[in-house]
Amino acid sequence: MAYQYDLFVIGAGSGGVRASRVAASKGYKVAVAEGSALGGTCVNIGCVPKKLFVYASEYKHGFDEAAGFGWTNQGVDFNWSVLRDNKTNEIKRLNGIYGNMLGNAGVEVISGFASFVDAHTVSVDGKTYTAERILIAVGAKPFIPQFEGSDLVVSSNEMFYLESLPKKALVVGGGYIAVEFAGILNGLGVETTLAYRGDQLLRGFDQDVRDFASEEYIKSGIDLRLNTDVERIELADASNQDGARIVHFKEGHSEEFGLILYATGRVPNVSTLGLKNAGIETGKNGAVIVDRNFTTSANSVFALGDVTDKIQLTPVAIKEAMALIAYWFDGKEVDFDYDNIPTAVFSQPAIGTVGLSEQEAESRGLDFRVYQTDFRAMKHTLSGGTGRTLMKLLVNNADDKVIGAHMVGDYSGEIIQGLGIAIKAGATKAHFDDTVGVHPTSAEEFVTFSAAALKERK
Ligand code: NDP
Repeated sequence: MAYQYDLFVIGAGSGGVRASRVAASKGYKVAVAEGSALGGTCVNIGCVPKKLFVYASEYKHGFDEAAGFGWTNQGVDFNWSVLRDNKTNEIKRLNGIYGNMLGNAGVEVISGFASFVDAHTVSVDGKTYTAERILIAVGAKPFIPQFEGSDLVVSSNEMFYLESLPKKALVVGGGYIAVEFAGILNGLGVETTLAYRGDQLLRGFDQDVRDFASEEYIKSGIDLRLNTDVERIELADASNQDGARIVHFKEGHSEEFGLILYATGRVPNVSTLGLKNAGIETGKNGAVIVDRNFTTSANSVFALGDVTDKIQLTPVAIKEAMALIAYWFDGKEVDFDYDNIPTAVFSQPAIGTVGLSEQEAESRGLDFRVYQTDFRAMKHTLSGGTGRTLMKLLVNNADDKVIGAHMVGDYSGEIIQGLGIAIKAGATKAHFDDTVGVHPTSAEEFVTFSAAALKERK
């Protein structure tokens, strides 16, 4: 049967754009449907605008620390609408670039949300399109638990377009988005409370990283409340929907906040896709189930990125798209390595991590040693800042290979990228030791760990 397209991609986010662009450049006839802005979550309401907000909020700490370096504080002021609107203009510029990239590659962009008619047909705004292959790359959306007053909270989506900043905000959650936005709000001068239901933030990260980062967040001014959960929320003044909210905590007390952000995870964005029409199976949270070659239960339909709910990271979706392209065009079975994916949390201070945590290494029964140090970064000798930096290296005893690297402190995201290459290449502790340090940096600590930094493990 002749189809209109070789490939129809649903969703022009990180994974969808990469797959459609590269497939078109290889001669496929490709269309991509996007109901929202080009670039998806990362470009529009995720990584990119978030990082711009992080930069904005870091200035606050810079101003506070500048006096020790001879600067006189001239009475700085912050204007939220300037930041928000400059950010929006930059995102619009990026949307344009994405449009050009797709157009130049010969991809047809169809504006609207697509849903399945069958395993070779989708419908967008009542018009149907057929394709030999269909790729689902629709990403994920914020999950907010339902309870009395949950309609009075916002998700990260709304944080990028707030009319104004509140005087006092509550952030609920303990993952990436919660700690990143708590840092942003705190830096922008908002009195910020971070409430997490468990014992410690950032489940899944190395325990020392979690403990250390939490201490640093508290030092930076965030009011961190662990083992704290919300029971219900109500308006302080029932006639003012935009006014203050009263949060009743399960632990018994109540408190007023101008803004409540729920950062309680993200779930696959599948509700309007009509997956059943194409016989596509889903799993937990609606995640599209795929085999190792990203093929769904309908063998003409593929899925990658956050919608498959494996590792919700932009560079992972992009790499998956490249692996899928190699599978389609070169017949190369996909062997995607989900281990040793470097990642950064852009909290303040930032966290960089790659490879195993100490707890993961233990649960795998590995025989390993740990090098660990924490110190006051050189900048703070004059800044008056009390922030400290943590660095940690895990080394497998059998072959001396570095199996994990973790950092909390300035530039962690930048530093961990290089360590990711080393670990991927199988570097040993001896390779690290043989590498000349860059002086004076924090990063050089990773190549100067001596026996004295060996952590005694229980
Ligand atoms: P995460 O899964 O990282 O964290 C969700 C948090 O919400 C956890 O602390 C979880 O607690 C808590 N939670 C879940 N359900 C509830 C509930 N009903 N009540 C109270 N708390 C709850 O999700 P995020 O939303 O922070 O981010 C989603 C994903 O996006 C991340 O996992 C990451 O992959 C990606 N991301 C990456 C970024 C980066 O690379 N810098 C930045 C932002 C997002 P518990 O641990 O107890 O389950």
